Amino acid sequence: MEQQELQTGAKPEWYEGPGAGEARDRPYFWVTWLSALMVGDITCTLAIWFKAHRQRYKKTDKRGNLNNWKIKHRALLEQIVTHLVMEDTEANVTMEDENSITVWGSKATIGGKPDIIKRVPGLWHIYDGKTGAPGDSDKAQMWLYKWLSLMQDKARKVVLTLVYGEWPGIDVNIENEMALKESATAWVNSLSNPVPPAARPNGKECRDCDISVCPFRATAGLIEISTDEF
Ligand code: SF4
Repeated sequence: MEQQELQTGAKPEWYEGPGAGEARDRPYFWVTWLSALMVGDITCTLAIWFKAHRQRYKKTDKRGNLNNWKIKHRALLEQIVTHLVMEDTEANVTMEDENSITVWGSKATIGGKPDIIKRVPGLWHIYDGKTGAPGDSDKAQMWLYKWLSLMQDKARKVVLTLVYGEWPGIDVNIENEMALKESATAWVNSLSNPVPPAARPNGKECRDCDISVCPFRATAGLIEISTDEF
C-alpha cells in the first residue's frame, strides 16, 4: 500500500476520479508553475504534477481574489502600453493572448504568455507587470520567456523588464542561465513521469491550491506555539 494511502486512507486513483477532470494528451507545464518550482515557492510537487497531467478539473472557488488581481493587473498593463506607445508611436506592442508561446518537447509541452512584447527587427523587449511585492520567482519566469522565445529564433536579442506596480520597470539581468536551464529541464523531466510524487501538504500552499479533489489538503493552519523559554 502506498505511503500516502496509509497516511490518509485515500486511494491512489483519486486523481482519476470524479472532479479530477480529464487526462491531458501529454504533460503540459505553464511557465509560472515552473518558475515557482525552480525557486522553491512551491514545494508540494504533487500540485504541479496534477496540473501537468489533468485538465478541466474541479477547482476550489477563489474568484473574489482572482478578480481583484485581474483588475489591477489589467490597469498596470494599460499603463505600460501607454508609455511604450508614447515613446514610439510606431512601436509594435502586443499584449497577453497575442503573446502566447507554446513549445513542444519530446516528453512534454511548455506554454507561456508574456504580458507585453515590444518587437523591433532582431529584438524582443518583454515586459511583465506585477501587482504584488517582488518575488524570487519573477526573474526565473522572465528567463523562461527568454528561453522559450529563443527556441523560435536563436539569433534574436531579448531584453527583459519587470514593472512592479507602476512605470518605469526594472531591467532583469540573468547571470546563471545554465543553472536555470538545468533546473527547468529537470523539473519537466521529473514531473512528466506518469507516477505522481508524494504530497507535501502545508498550510500556505494548500490554502492557495485550487485542486479541490486533493485528499491530502492540510486543513490545519501554520503551527503557532506559546513558550516561556525565551
Ligand atoms: S491541496 Fe495541498 S497537498 Fe494537495 S496538491 Fe494542493 S498543495 Fe499539495
